[in-house]
Amino acid sequence: MGLILKNVRIALGGEELLALDCAIEPGSVLTVMGPSGSGKSTLLSYIAGFFGAPFTADGSVLLNGADITEMEPEKRHVGLLFQDPMLFPHLSVGGNLLFGMPSDVSGRRVRAEEALTRFGLKGFADRDPATLSGGQASRVALLRLLLSEPRAALLDEPFSKLDRHLRDDIRRFTFERLREAGLPSILVTHDPEDAEAAGGPVLELAL
Ligand code: ADP
Ligand code: MG
Repeated sequence: MGLILKNVRIALGGEELLALDCAIEPGSVLTVMGPSGSGKSTLLSYIAGFFGAPFTADGSVLLNGADITEMEPEKRHVGLLFQDPMLFPHLSVGGNLLFGMPSDVSGRRVRAEEALTRFGLKGFADRDPATLSGGQASRVALLRLLLSEPRAALLDEPFSKLDRHLRDDIRRFTFERLREAGLPSILVTHDPEDAEAAGGPVLELAL
């Protein structure tokens, strides 16, 4: 179980960008650090399946025992969180949550509303995402990810745009929820405090 990167090597224009071999247990977070341009976001794209020229790769990605290296992105069940919450602006908060939920889940709307309440967002289902504070939007993005029932989570500097006073709370909240969901996760960050809060192994990529 978990996420295994087996002898993964990524090259850009024929030059090796990064190489790694690691296993991430369910409920644990691997933090990937490294200077801008070292290939952190590229690594996440590779795992999520959004990858192509001018990049090439070899090695394999195993998720809960299945080889997903060549799978279509939507079949991998890998959830992503970015610096920007990227909520769909034309959908309400509730619509954003329903969008990612598997269609065979019964009582989807009720489940989404209960989840909002658990996340301190009771009654937010009809809100326009544009009216949310930064912290609220982050929580909705995390909730959308979790409700989509991913098997792994990839986080690309998700806290870097938040105000300092919010950052501590949101990151603690995020790591608790990921652990609770038992997801193997990768966090890309520049902030050593993020790495510490993630509480897992740290990998440094070189430029
Ligand atoms: P990081 O997230 O660590 O800052 P990236 O993974 O975004 O780094 O980028 C790694 C390298 O690949 C950088 O040198 C970047 O300029 C280059 N790069 C990213 N996307 C492309 C692309 N579509 N075409 C060519 N080079 C790219
Ligand atoms: Mg990046």
